[in-house]
Amino acid sequence: MVGGFFGAIADDFTGATDLAGLLARSGQPVSLRMGVPEGGDAGAFEVIALKIRTVPVDQAVAQVLAAVDWLQARGVQRFFWKYCSTFDSTDRGNIGPVAEAIMERLDVRQTIYCPAFPENGRSVFMGNLFVGQQPLAESPMKDHPLTPMRDSNLMRLLRPQVSGDLALIDRLTVAQGPEALRAALDATDAAHVIVDAVADDDLRVIAAACRDDVLMTGGSAVAMPLPGLYGAAGLVDAVARVGFDLPQGPALVLSGSCSAMTQRQVAAYAACNPCYHLDPLALDRDGVQPVIDWLAAQQGAPLVSATASPDAVRAAQDALGRARAGQLVEDTLVAIAVSQRELGVRRFVVAGGETSGAVTQALGVTRLDVGPEIAPGVPWCAADSDGVRVALALKSGNFGAADFFARALA
Ligand code: ADP
Repeated sequence: MVGGFFGAIADDFTGATDLAGLLARSGQPVSLRMGVPEGGDAGAFEVIALKIRTVPVDQAVAQVLAAVDWLQARGVQRFFWKYCSTFDSTDRGNIGPVAEAIMERLDVRQTIYCPAFPENGRSVFMGNLFVGQQPLAESPMKDHPLTPMRDSNLMRLLRPQVSGDLALIDRLTVAQGPEALRAALDATDAAHVIVDAVADDDLRVIAAACRDDVLMTGGSAVAMPLPGLYGAAGLVDAVARVGFDLPQGPALVLSGSCSAMTQRQVAAYAACNPCYHLDPLALDRDGVQPVIDWLAAQQGAPLVSATASPDAVRAAQDALGRARAGQLVEDTLVAIAVSQRELGVRRFVVAGGETSGAVTQALGVTRLDVGPEIAPGVPWCAADSDGVRVALALKSGNFGAADFFARALA
């Protein structure tokens, strides 16, 4: 079974939509799968969304290898391991262990790591990751509920996650162009090579240098030039831009992200639209029914939000435990999504990577067609949800501008 050429595996659902949206800018049709598909054919560009950022390493590796096998059986020749542009991970993983498992499965000696996404303010310089002008560990990512990032240096972050050697190729080499970068990669014995990038031009150099690599790893942006490079090299057919039908109908915004940007987006939207603020302690006590009753009385496109400040998140976690607080929020947003779809909601805007994964799974969505971007890295997608056609905008916590929710629904 052939048909596939490029296959990406993403560690969360918004990461996958982000990557799919950037690949689709090339005009190539991009197919986005929720979870490892069962059977079926592949298109030239496949993105498989997993929900493995914070699961135990062995579970993450098992799911990723199943995805690799599915892609390989369909002729895929180029693989991409996609993680967050803020390198969300812990000492245990899952970025490094998954990369090593794919390398072993595909018999790959070396791979690069480049989480940079300059359009969204993520850059890597001398191996240090910046969010806008702040080092990662001084950015709001230091307070992330699940993967607090307390170091900005990618060498130090990756070191405990892998067994192979590490190297850094810095911006001074990248600035010399693809041939110089290729030579530097070939010259190092290191299995894991972090590559600096501060601007889109750097990403084009890296993609060109790694065009023939069987495996690349990174954020979404370093993959963006690849469809064009593959097309120019005659590796994939040039395809005319495909049309896109976005399902219409009543809309709902669900936010389970506590990122600084989502906090601004929730505040901006709640100022002009009905908004229900979820409190994990109240959810523990009263369940989801009060929210569903409130929704029944609303007009327009209401927002249900668990978004809270780092202090409020900590207070809920202290009272309920970190896992239970997160689970209550997730279970509630999932129950709301399903109940509102039954009542006719057809457009869902979801904020939060983990949250999007949970909501999409609960809606029974397994495959999405990737449409136009609302903001860099956040496309509208269309999908079958248990027999009805729905539109989904899945936003990673940090993406989009303050008016994102209103812009998505405009
Ligand atoms: P992001 O994309 O910003 O990382 P995620 O959805 O991936 O967002 O992660 C946010 C996590 O925080 C989710 O697991 C969610 O259930 C949890 N969460 C959201 N709101 C709260 C809250 N008020 N208290 C505790 N945990 C929360």
